[in-house]
Amino acid sequence: MLGFTVAIDGPAAAGKGTVGRAVAAHFGFAHLDTGLLYRAVGAKVLNGVTAEEAAETLKARDLESDQLRTSAVAEAASRAAAIPAVRSALVDFQRSFAMRAGGAVLDGRDIGTVICPDAQVKLFITATPEVRAARRFAELSRVDPTVTLEGVLADVQARDARDSSRAEAPLRPAEDAELMDTSTMDIEAAVARAIALVNARRGE
Ligand code: C5P
Repeated sequence: MLGFTVAIDGPAAAGKGTVGRAVAAHFGFAHLDTGLLYRAVGAKVLNGVTAEEAAETLKARDLESDQLRTSAVAEAASRAAAIPAVRSALVDFQRSFAMRAGGAVLDGRDIGTVICPDAQVKLFITATPEVRAARRFAELSRVDPTVTLEGVLADVQARDARDSSRAEAPLRPAEDAELMDTSTMDIEAAVARAIALVNARRGE
């Protein structure tokens, strides 16, 4: 199957990655967490490289660092992601990934709107800021005992505000995206709904 693409967008910690990985595993599609590209750029910025240079010289091994999950890197990623030259340096890699034979799932902020406007399936996954902050807090507090729920909520809200208000590729649902609110939906239900949508499009 050539170029079957599932585009998953939404704000931080809404469940995009979990749903994306599960859908990819179910269908044998490749999965790309595009947030990692921006996080890898953010990490380089924190090490003194300019955001543009970091994006233009990004290598696959830069995505493997275990430092990419921190709040500081997320914040630097969100700032770098507002720079048009950074975004355009990352477009070709994402589009080639989306078109690979065998199908692909990409999750991010602008997959259904900018990177893959012709994706066969588009999902926009949200949840309330409080629910998302609680999920992220549970992840981060395992590795960093100094994080607080209030701090994580403030970080998530600041990042969403920046991602939604930037001029270039702002976070918003594509007009033809299926909206999914995971505030009260458990992960199994969200995955089952996503799989049903893919099956419906593959049968057409
Ligand atoms: O998804 P994640 O939280 O890892 O993304 C980190 C940051 O990268 C986001 O806050 C956003 O600013 C940026 N990003 C983006 N476009 C994407 C994926 C992530 O702007 N497709």
